[in-house]
Amino acid sequence: MSRIHILSDQVANQIAAGEVVERPVGAVKELLENSLDAGSTRVEIEFRNGGKSYIRVEDNGCGMLPDEAMLSLERHATSKIRKAKDLEKVISFGFRGEALPSIASISRFTLRTRPHDQIEGTEILVNAGKIVHQKTCGMPPGTRIEAANLFYCVPARRKFLKTENTEAAHISRMAKLYAIAHPEVSFNVYSGPRKVFQSPACTDLRDRISEVFGDEVAASLTPLPEQEVDGCHLRGMVSPPGIGRPTRQDIVTVVNSRPVESRTLLYALTEGYHTLIPKGKYPVAFLFLDIDPARIDVNVHPQKREIRFHSEGHVRRLVIESILRMAEQTHPSTVLPEPETPMPLPVIPESPAAFVRTSIQPPGPTPEPPGSHGQTKESNNLPDSSGQTPAPPRSPLNIVSTHTDASSAHWRLIGRLRQHLALFETTSGMVILHLQAARERIRFEEILNHGGNGKSPSQELLLPVPVQLDNLSSELLEQHGKVLRDEGFSLELFGRDFYRIEAIPPWLEPGEAENFLRQFIELARENGNLLRKPGLAREELARLAVLEIATADDSLSESEVATLPDRLLNCRQPLTCPQGKATFYEVTSQELAKKFGRKIP
Ligand code: ADP
Ligand code: MG
Repeated sequence: MSRIHILSDQVANQIAAGEVVERPVGAVKELLENSLDAGSTRVEIEFRNGGKSYIRVEDNGCGMLPDEAMLSLERHATSKIRKAKDLEKVISFGFRGEALPSIASISRFTLRTRPHDQIEGTEILVNAGKIVHQKTCGMPPGTRIEAANLFYCVPARRKFLKTENTEAAHISRMAKLYAIAHPEVSFNVYSGPRKVFQSPACTDLRDRISEVFGDEVAASLTPLPEQEVDGCHLRGMVSPPGIGRPTRQDIVTVVNSRPVESRTLLYALTEGYHTLIPKGKYPVAFLFLDIDPARIDVNVHPQKREIRFHSEGHVRRLVIESILRMAEQTHPSTVLPEPETPMPLPVIPESPAAFVRTSIQPPGPTPEPPGSHGQTKESNNLPDSSGQTPAPPRSPLNIVSTHTDASSAHWRLIGRLRQHLALFETTSGMVILHLQAARERIRFEEILNHGGNGKSPSQELLLPVPVQLDNLSSELLEQHGKVLRDEGFSLELFGRDFYRIEAIPPWLEPGEAENFLRQFIELARENGNLLRKPGLAREELARLAVLEIATADDSLSESEVATLPDRLLNCRQPLTCPQGKATFYEVTSQELAKKFGRKIP
């Protein structure tokens, strides 16, 4: 073994370079961050061959005096922190003083810099960590750094680089993220002779998104309601319910002006969009969070890409709440003009008639022949002072048709299209409604709007439904049965593993009861945890029930179809079904006019 010794600066820098700049994008990122830290209002980036052969980052920031320029190339030279305690309140990008010496140690490196109050600049040329010369030069105020032949003296690392296209894609993406995080700075980014993107300083975030991610993405976004809770401020632009992308490419999270990756934010987003977009899809989201720097850790990742929040739950709640508020505000106003009369909402309990009405609310069934309800009898909660049997339930058809006049006039049924679709004319164009999706959403919310916590009305079954279970299933049912009872189920144990369903909640059809119970047990088996949290349990029950919609779409009568829009638009989230898929698709007159090249009155 050779004797112990201290590494030369050159070797130490090359090793550090491995951490700070793993690949070209790392170098560009460090240089860009320095430019932003220097208060620049204009940044230009150029790279060739994915950054392997050439990188240039040029800014109009504060620049450096000659001896500052020399010092900036020393390891741990930084103007940004002085003591470890300062780390808690770092707001600048850099703070380790490693980037410049690292990059200079693995490339042919030229630094040119001039403060605004100086008449000339300084040029320093470094080759693989050795200073070749320092001299004065003429240049505009600001700093211009070039790094050529990155990693040429570190062949081991060079081998790990991906193709030029891949490296170029990484640099472009990184630059886009910083451009989004700093709309106030003008950006010009070139890959060789090709312009990657260009964006003047923007005051409006949507403009910047449009320049960087394209008009289409920008136009699809809606502002997130701004929220400030406990010194934590959230704003941004996101996709409305129903729009989902296959990848996370269009999610940008910015914390204290730094584009970051944060599991907390990503999970919160996914959770917030849970029922707003289909499973496995991602929203488009540009989130900006401002938080006291003492409440985050930025120093957890060598490239500072990832951050950690001290109060994750707090941040999570903030994001989820904002998304839900956004979703509530994103009403399909373009489709449906504000009705003159308030939309009829299901009137809950109080009078016997009203009770009957809510109890047969589940959408769908074709008008049943008189007496088909004889299988159930309305029970408890029913104030029946007269001692008479309550009026026989009216058919769903009657009930909804009482408020057709008020608002359905805005969506006129033209006809059925295919099995699950219906076409409507609206004041602003036309709408294709997905019948099943709409019915699922309506039923889902009806169930959620129903009592819960044991206060739910229930309908006693005249003919209880016997259910034979296996041993494990009945154990699961014993464990989680309270969730069902709270919703109005009554289950009686008869013999070993043998149950009778004696009452069910009003939103379930007697014919669906057994299947529902078995599905519930499956859910308890797979994901019992969900059923332990009261709020979640209700949602899961509702989701199960929705899958049970008994009547097929094609047996809906025309008037049932005609009144679906009404009921859908009364929902809190009319745009998507409970799985987050769209309930309807709108084509506006403007779009038609554009397609036909003529005015559509
Ligand atoms: P850090 O950013 O961690 O301080 P760097 O090695 O990236 O370390 O930079 C060292 C120092 O050089 C910075 O603290 C800053 O004072 C100066 N510097 C680097 N780039 C620029 C620039 N584009 N404009 C002005 N000053 C710069
Ligand atoms: Mg830096």
